[in-house]
Amino acid sequence: MKYPKEVNAYCPKCLKHTPHKAKLAGKGKARPMAIGNRKHERSLTGHGGKRAGEKTVKKQGKRQKIILECSVCKKKQERVIGTRTKKKLEFN
Ligand SMILES: [Zn+2]
Repeated sequence: MKYPKEVNAYCPKCLKHTPHKAKLAGKGKARPMAIGNRKHERSLTGHGGKRAGEKTVKKQGKRQKIILECSVCKKKQERVIGTRTKKKLEFN
């Protein structure tokens, strides 16, 4: 999948369309000591039972997420493009 390096998009801060730089959104960091993670890990101990977070069916592709940065005010915004795809996003 191909996407241009620079696109003209609406900026909510400038309240108009401005040139934006496109960048692939990185993955956020998981915090292993967060309360939700600790609870989940506790639930995985022991025998059997239904557990959240264990998927039986895996999705074939991912929806690509990009970050658009306004060239005027540097405001960043996320955008999901296209549908589920196995191909990596390329900028041209
Ligand atoms: Zn802006």
